[in-house]
Amino acid sequence: MTRTRFAPSPTGYLHIGGLRTALYNYLYTKKTDGTFLLRIEDTDRTRLIEGAMEHLIDTIERVGLHYDEGPAKEANHGPYIQSERTDLYRKYADQLIKNGHAYHCFCTPERLTEMREQQAKNKQAPMYDRTCLKLSADEVKAKIDAGIPSVIRQKIPHGRQLSFHDHIRGNVNFNTSTIDDQVLMKSDNFPTYHLANVVDDHHMEISHVIRGEEWLPSTPKHILLYKAFGWDVPEFAHIPLLLNKDKSKLSKRQGDVSVESYLSKGYCPEAIINFIALLGWHPGEGEENEIYTLEELINLFSLKKVHKAGAIFDIEKLDWFNYIWNKKKHNKNLAAIAKEIDSKVIIELNHKKEPVYTFQNLKYEQEFNNKRGELLKKMVDNYLKPEYTQDHDLLLKALVTNEDKILKSSLEINELIHFFYERPHIDPAMVLNEKMKVSKEIAIKGLQKSIDTLKKLKDFEDLKKLQHTLIDLVQKMELKNGQLLWPIRVALTAVQFSPGTFEMLWALGKDESIKRIKSTIEALQNS
Ligand code: GLU
Repeated sequence: MTRTRFAPSPTGYLHIGGLRTALYNYLYTKKTDGTFLLRIEDTDRTRLIEGAMEHLIDTIERVGLHYDEGPAKEANHGPYIQSERTDLYRKYADQLIKNGHAYHCFCTPERLTEMREQQAKNKQAPMYDRTCLKLSADEVKAKIDAGIPSVIRQKIPHGRQLSFHDHIRGNVNFNTSTIDDQVLMKSDNFPTYHLANVVDDHHMEISHVIRGEEWLPSTPKHILLYKAFGWDVPEFAHIPLLLNKDKSKLSKRQGDVSVESYLSKGYCPEAIINFIALLGWHPGEGEENEIYTLEELINLFSLKKVHKAGAIFDIEKLDWFNYIWNKKKHNKNLAAIAKEIDSKVIIELNHKKEPVYTFQNLKYEQEFNNKRGELLKKMVDNYLKPEYTQDHDLLLKALVTNEDKILKSSLEINELIHFFYERPHIDPAMVLNEKMKVSKEIAIKGLQKSIDTLKKLKDFEDLKKLQHTLIDLVQKMELKNGQLLWPIRVALTAVQFSPGTFEMLWALGKDESIKRIKSTIEALQNS
């Protein structure tokens, strides 16, 4: 049974690299039906930041990496916050001393600094010189009794070759003589990361330790601790570093690395997860697709496919993922709208003679359904502006009145329907039309009369009535159809090609239509 953990220290925001570690743990665990833990490693009391743990939990939950066990999700292996487990670490530190795997060290910070400076001068690697290992049991006791502060150091058995298998790096070998006697318990009685990490991974029954490559040099120390306790060693996978574009280690200095800040800038969680998953992992050759949901990532993930080399963090790529994901999510809205078109608006296909848009007319449902698919595809391909989808009713009308154009024209969908949403800027010259014999005078008169007539019309939803009313007006004014209908259509759309005058009146409704006609009259009068 796989059990993994994400074990952040609450020292600030959640770093992009930290989220990737959490994600790879999560993907591996869910793929193998295991349990994913969150453990808070807060034993370095000097680096704690108030509220950091809460932010961290909030962030990983927001991006959908729900943990199975951890703070506020207590199970059999808690508490999951290390500062609440300090008795356990002390017990195991004492056990190590008793069995000869650790020793007290009373060296002062000044002495250690001097020692390191000397080692640097001699071009030696910095390493504790084991001065306190030479103390007898009585000397140690006397110092402790005298209240001299001490730390507990791991006694590394030198002169051994230590090798282990890493899921990503393959076989890794260390010579134990190069390993420093690590501090396990500090003088403040808190354990260091190394001791607490091993004790907890054992007690929490962690089967796979998946973490950043920066912890690789610590792994032999940990393995020696497992062996000293007589515990099974978990499996290891060390994830490659994240790099800036110049291949330096990813840091704050070269840009934003906090997940919270990307979320607050409006990047969507799906895009962040998708982007991060592919930083150092790829599903394999032949897999061209780059857009994956969390569910798909779980299915595809394998530790074997994690790269050994560092991964470049390219923020422009995140922008691209965000664009694609927003589009994808937005299209879900469009799908809902399309469904609504299905049930609400059906176009009468015999509209060549008498265009009639009816609601709840199921006669042509099948036919319209076929077109609906294409219509939707076109909307999706063209990325309909999200603000155009807010007023469903208007969108439906914009779509049904433009159906043919949307399907046939190579113009962007937003170009075809923008005048439904934005009041057009009227160019008086466009209203006038020599060929149709629309003079300024005729245009103004016709528009004024049409306002009076339309104001009286009760039912704007009935396209037939709209049509009859305006044709009546044309006849009463002894005009040709175009002399009245052209100025109205320009007033409503300000474009050469658009749905017809009646459809536009129907779609925009009474108030909006009258407003547009009024401002066209003003524009003509002022020209
Ligand atoms: N607390 C360590 C960190 O902040 C955890 C390292 C590990 O996973 O072992 O990265």
